[in-house]
Amino acid sequence: MHNADHGPSPGNPPNDCETDPQISPLFFFPDAGDYIKVENVIYCIHQGILRAKSVVFNELFETGGEGVSDGKMFQKPIFLPQVTSKEFDNLLTYIYNRWTPPPYKPQDLVDVLRLSALWEIENGTHWAIYHIETLPKGAISAAHRLCLSRQYQIHQWIGPAFRELVKIPLTYLSAEDEAMIGWRTYQVLAKLREALEVERKRAAFAPPPIQTPSFMCNDHTKCVQAWKEEWWKKVGKKMLHPDWTKAMSFRDASAEMLKLELTDMLPDCRKKVKASIEGSGGFQIEDDMINLVIEKLVEENKQL
Ligand SMILES: [Zn+2]
Repeated sequence: MHNADHGPSPGNPPNDCETDPQISPLFFFPDAGDYIKVENVIYCIHQGILRAKSVVFNELFETGGEGVSDGKMFQKPIFLPQVTSKEFDNLLTYIYNRWTPPPYKPQDLVDVLRLSALWEIENGTHWAIYHIETLPKGAISAAHRLCLSRQYQIHQWIGPAFRELVKIPLTYLSAEDEAMIGWRTYQVLAKLREALEVERKRAAFAPPPIQTPSFMCNDHTKCVQAWKEEWWKKVGKKMLHPDWTKAMSFRDASAEMLKLELTDMLPDCRKKVKASIEGSGGFQIEDDMINLVIEKLVEENKQL
């Protein structure tokens, strides 16, 4: 066991830049002979393993890091800036295949994603994306996933993250969430939400027009009245709930419309109404509006 009195020792957390460098407790292979320094931690790793995985490391070991070191001496390690030792530990854990079975910590996976992108480690990127996608729902917030999708060009995350954000009241979002969403997307989100509100109120006030009477009907005014009343009680009124997080969504309204009993309608007219609702597929407008915005966001993301 090393001791602090005998130079750097494994396991001692780095203090500040003025202290002696610490030896990585996890990745210091004396036989490897390639020294890398991240923050205040010295790693001794196998350059061949890193070079096989990373385009950037391949060039780095060719030319040496900052200070033109070839990393062959403990005293002159290749220094990697703008990276934390925790992030580097997580990347090496992946590279050296030291991962234990899931569950993984979301941030550890994000670390691998970031450094894989930074150093062009294609497998690492795919590996991190795969495992982030298998995390339990909510492990990484929708705002964070949207931010990552932009940073690392993961277009398939935009739709699910945005759909989730549309359902969250804007006042629930923290300043950090807002920053991650980005001002431009936040504006798009707010405008879409407003437009959806208008559509929902419009739909709630005016029930879908009823079909022409069946030829058996001799009092269609009564049918229309029954339709309007039941629509208002079971659907319209609920869509207009003042707390919009409790208001009935278009999707639920579509399902609810099919369940209306409409007992006061003439059976033939009722059948016609039900068939018409089924045929129309209910309220598509909400999904259509959201999908349109997502398509645009994905397009924009591809231009970044
Ligand atoms: Zn009728």
